[in-house]
Amino acid sequence: MAKPKVATTSLAGCFGCHMSLLDIDDRILKLVELVDFDKSPINDIKKFSGRCLVGLIEGGCCNEENVLVLQEFRRHCDVLIALGDCAIMGCIPALRNTIPLKECMEEAYLNGPTVYNPSGTMPNDLDLPLLLDKVYPVKEVVKIDYFLPGCPPSADSIWAVLTALLGNKKIDLPYELLKYD
Ligand code: SF4
Repeated sequence: MAKPKVATTSLAGCFGCHMSLLDIDDRILKLVELVDFDKSPINDIKKFSGRCLVGLIEGGCCNEENVLVLQEFRRHCDVLIALGDCAIMGCIPALRNTIPLKECMEEAYLNGPTVYNPSGTMPNDLDLPLLLDKVYPVKEVVKIDYFLPGCPPSADSIWAVLTALLGNKKIDLPYELLKYD
C-alpha cells in the first residue's frame, strides 16, 4: 500500500523549524517507514508528485513567491500545519511590519551603517519576488488546520503531532510539550 506523503516548506523563516524536525533523531528512520517525503527542502524535491496528507509550513509570507508556494501547498495537502511562531504570527521577520517598506529598503541598501552602495542601486532584478507591504501569518493567506507554536516547536511536539495524524488519532499534546518557560 502506498505510504502517505508529507511535504514541507520554509517561507519567511530561518530553517530552525526544519532543524527541529530533524532533531527527532533516530525516529526519522521510523518516520520514513511511515511516510514518503514529497516536495521539501529536506530531500530537495522541488515539485509536488501527488496528493499529500500533511504539509508543514515554516515561516510567514513576506513576498509574492511565499504566497504562491503557500497556495500550492493548500491545493496539494489534506492537512496544513503552521509550524512555529513565524508561520503562526510572523515572529522575527514581522518586526519590519511597524516600518514602511520603503524605509526598510533604504536602511538595508542605502543608509544602514555598514552599507557600501556608491551607485545607490536598489535590487530590481525581475527574477526577484516582489516584497509584500508586510509579513503575513500564513492563516491570513490560506486556511490552516493546525498551529504548532514555538520558536522552534520541539522535536518531540512535531513527532507527537505527525504520529497522531498518521495514526488518525486526536492530537492531544501534553502540557510538557507546550510550555516554554
Ligand atoms: S519560528 Fe523560530 S525557528 Fe522557526 S523559522 Fe521562525 S525564527 Fe526560525
